Parts: sequence; structure tokens; C-alpha cells
Amino acid sequence: MRFLLLLFTLTSFALTAQPDRWQQAATYEMEIDMDVKKNQYDGIQTLRYINNSPDTLTKAFYHLYFNAFQPGSMMDIRNQTLPDADKRVGDRIKNLDKKEIGYIKVGSLTQDGRPVKHETVGTILEVELNEPILPGATSTFKMEWEAQVPLQIRRSGRDNKEGIRFSMAQWYPKMAEYDYQGWHANPYIGREFYHIWSDFDVKITIDGSYVVGGTGYLQNPEEIGYGYGPEPAKRAKKITYHFKAPKVGDFMWAADPDYKHTSMKRADGMTMHFYYQPGEKTSENWENLPKVMDEAFAYINEHYGHYPYKQYSFVQGGDGGMEYPMGTLITGERSFPSLVGVSVHELMHSWYQHLMGTNESLYAWMDEGFTSWASSEVMNHLRKKGLIGGEASDNPHARTYASLRGFRQSGMQEALTIHADHFATNAAYSVAAYVNGNVFQEQLRYIIGEEAHDCTLHRYFNDWAFKHPNPNDFIRVAEKCSGMELDWYREYWVNGTDYADYAVNKVESDKKKSKIFLEKIGRMPMPLEILVTLNDGAERWYYIAPRLLRATKDQPEYADNWTVLQDWPWTNPTYDFTIDVNKKDIKSVQLNPRNRMFEDDVENNSWEK
Ligand SMILES: [Zn+2]
Repeated sequence: MRFLLLLFTLTSFALTAQPDRWQQAATYEMEIDMDVKKNQYDGIQTLRYINNSPDTLTKAFYHLYFNAFQPGSMMDIRNQTLPDADKRVGDRIKNLDKKEIGYIKVGSLTQDGRPVKHETVGTILEVELNEPILPGATSTFKMEWEAQVPLQIRRSGRDNKEGIRFSMAQWYPKMAEYDYQGWHANPYIGREFYHIWSDFDVKITIDGSYVVGGTGYLQNPEEIGYGYGPEPAKRAKKITYHFKAPKVGDFMWAADPDYKHTSMKRADGMTMHFYYQPGEKTSENWENLPKVMDEAFAYINEHYGHYPYKQYSFVQGGDGGMEYPMGTLITGERSFPSLVGVSVHELMHSWYQHLMGTNESLYAWMDEGFTSWASSEVMNHLRKKGLIGGEASDNPHARTYASLRGFRQSGMQEALTIHADHFATNAAYSVAAYVNGNVFQEQLRYIIGEEAHDCTLHRYFNDWAFKHPNPNDFIRVAEKCSGMELDWYREYWVNGTDYADYAVNKVESDKKKSKIFLEKIGRMPMPLEILVTLNDGAERWYYIAPRLLRATKDQPEYADNWTVLQDWPWTNPTYDFTIDVNKKDIKSVQLNPRNRMFEDDVENNSWEK
């Protein structure tokens, strides 16, 4: 029944598909036999690949991510040459010994029953197809391989710093995505993933003392016990976990003999699972986590679209926090607010990475940025509800704006169009992805108004889940919801690094009225809000749209007295307007009083008597 419901939910997305955006499809059947002493496993995989593209494919590419964890790999060299390499990596790959490196060694590979020519080139397996795969055709690949799990350096690996034995992300040969922009066989140098939505059937055979959790629904709980079902009378020396996961972009799992596994069924029928090593630094916080995440789920489902799967797992593992379909790997020895913070952030990725499937390499800001924006909203909601410490804020994004302002002064900022792997510094990548993407979203809410923004987020989810949207797809949704023309906003914010800055120059007496003089200093046009406060405390709001917007924003709730002025053509450096108030009655004039428009200089925004 539950599974049928899910199928229905997933199919309903397909019915609203954009006609011009086809998707490749795949089913993976994998069987893994894990040797926990050697940290190695053998794998067999049957991959049915469906070419829904209008193109004939003569090649195919698999990711072999574990090969990055070898001295001399592109990831190793990149981290030794970046001026601000991730400290978790640094020169650690260079120093891995034979037993600590990771690898995936492909043994046999066949296409439709015949051996196929293939070559491992670093983290990519290049496959020369026997027979081209025609548009609409299906081809079946069978592979056998051997793998060694690397000592954990970044995300995936064994024996992380909190003592989790196996954090198994990016662990299997994974077909690269082919979409309307071609193949995406990016070598793995440390970040960003892209995927085909696939059905997974995974059997993991492992030492009987290990508790395993991750992506997918366990098919044999009665054989496993360990919180999945009643404890079996006897457990074999080696046991097989059988998982299935429908329509997900990846499959993560983690295993440890000390895991405590708890779960909580939510009111809507979905179940949250929690896996952690009990101890002084974990138990109390992890026991308190479910009820907070239950409220987080409720808020997220209401505001950003309903989660379509029946399960989500919070798993202690990895090296910080990393999102995967139907689950996350997070380090677990944290303060409670930090544990909630990372859990909310990684959960939010289920929307802006896994359901949307945005190509993170090209548009990391649509994943990390939108995720960061929504996480701040969710955390603020949890504070309002008193579920975590700290005061709720009128503007939970204020610090993000300030950090962008600060970073821009370093001169290191790069445009959001740079490929995620190719930024000159990690810092520039992080700002573009997390900070710019977050400000983009909050500033858009300012431009189009609260209601149109709510509409945008819901419609984005309904129209674009499971379809790999790009920046233009998102902005078109915002245009449809707001009735505004917004191409200029995407062009300035995404393609360049010149943003807005406006100033109040002076206020002059004009008989019994007053004239307010404004100046456009930054290159980017933006709609303006100006708050005039009178001596008696009365507030008057004035609104100026850029002419490019071809519309005006509805009167917001926070502004009782709202006047829409003439629009401002972007070519004009100055603008003035007259208000029906005697200058001696004006206490102050404040441009951008709610600070939702990003400006490099916020010191030139006010005039006071
Ligand atoms: Zn993130």
C-alpha cells in the first residue's frame, strides 16, 4: 500500500513533465560481498540503461570515485596546489599507503551479453560501445569489480574520526549522466555530483555484527533485527541486507557494529531512521533529534513541496555533513543546535539536490544556495517554536548578506557561471555556491513579494522535480508567478559580479513639499523601497521599480502607507521625487530599510535631520 502510494506520487511528477526535457533512466542490481577485515569488497552489477534522448550513443562513461584516493590522482594534485585546500584533504591522499588507498578495479564488462572495450582513466571508466544505443533503446551492462574502501579522507571511506567503520558514498561504478547538454563525465576532484534517476536493488553481504543503514527500504527486516524488526533467534556469521530504492540518483550506505538504530513514524506515514554510536557525546542529543526533525519535516513539506519517499535516514558517519537520496551522513559528536543545523541542511538537500537534480557542477548555487536559504528559514521556525536554543530573527539571512559584502572586498569573487571544480579558490566556490545562492533567493523574495515567492517555490517543485532544472527554468517560474520580467536579475546575479548600490543624496525643501534625490552607483538595477519617517513617528513607504521589471510589486504586509512612484530606467544615474510633506516634518529617509536588497555600501542609504 505504501509502495503504491509512492508510485502514484512519483508518476504524478512525470505527467507534468516539460515536453522538451527528456531524462535518461537506469536500473541497478548490485550484490556486494564485504570483507570487513581487509576493507575490501567484490561487486557484481547489472545495469539496464534506457536511452530516452533523441541521440544515438556510441560511448558510455562510469564514475569510479574511489580511484581519487590514490597518490598522484587529480584530487590529490588539486588539493596540493589550491591556495586554500580543504584541510580534510590537504596532502593526506599523497600519504596513503597500499592498505589505505581506495580503488575500484573493473574486471569484466559486457554490453548485452558481449564483452565490451573499456579503459579506466583515473576516476572515469571510458566504454567504447559494441552497438550504438539508439534513441528509445535499452542496453544491459554487466560488470564485476573489486574495490578497496579508502581510509576516510573526504566524505566516503572507512574509520572516520568518530570511529564509524564504513561511510559508503560514491562506492560503486556509477553511469555518468547524459542530458540535453551532453555527457557529464567529470573527473572526481572532491566535489559535486550529478545523476540519472534510477531504481536500485542492492544486496550487501557483511559480517553479522554490523548494523547497516542508508538509502533504500530494507526488504528483509525479519532476517536482520537491529531495530528493523524483532531480533532473529540466531544470526549467521555473515548476513545479507537487501535494500530497494525507487527513482533516486544515488545509493549511500553506512555500517558499524556499534550503531544504535532508532526510528520514528511521522503522522503522514513516512519513517525517519537514526543511526548513531551511543556515548557521552551523542546519546542525549540523538534521542532528542527525532521530535525536532519531525517539526522540520512538517514545515518543509508545507513550504517547499511534499517529500515523495516513505523514509529518510540520519546516519552518523562521513566527515561533516553530506546529502544523499533518502538519507545523510553527518558527524554525530556535536552540540544539539549544531546537530539540528546539519540535519536540517542535509535534509533540505533532498529538495534542491535530489528531487530537482540540478547539475551541481554547473549550478552549485541552485543546490547549496537554495538549500542554505531554506535551512535558515527552517531553523528560524524551529527557534520560534522553542525547539532549539536562540532567538528567532526578523531577518535570518542578515549574516549571509554581511559575509558576501565582506568577501567582495577581497577581490576574489568569481561569477556563478564558473564550473564548480574550476574556481581559483575554495573560498570563491563556497561564496558563489552557498552565499550568493542564498542571497539570490532572499533578494528574489524582496523583488517579487512574499506571495509570488511562495508560488515560485511550490511551482518550481511541481514543475521541475525529477527534471534537472537550470537557472533559466527557475527564473521562468518566478516570472510566471509574479507577472514580472526577471531576465535582468538572472543575468546580473549569475553571469557577472557587479551588483546594486543606491544612495540617498539629499533632501530639499520644495515650497511646502520635499524633494528626495537618489543616485544609482552600482551597475545592477533593482527595485527600491524608501521609508520616510516623520517627526510624529508616522511611516510612509515609497516604491520605485526598475523599468525592466515591466510590473510593480503588490503592497507588502509590512508597509501600511505604500506609494508606487514612476519606474526608473537603468540608464539614468539619478532620480528624484517629491513628497507631500514639509521638510521640517521629516525625521529620516531610509533607502532599503529592510536590507533585503544586496548593496556593497549600506552607509549611503539614509538621510537624517
Ligand atoms: Zn549543502
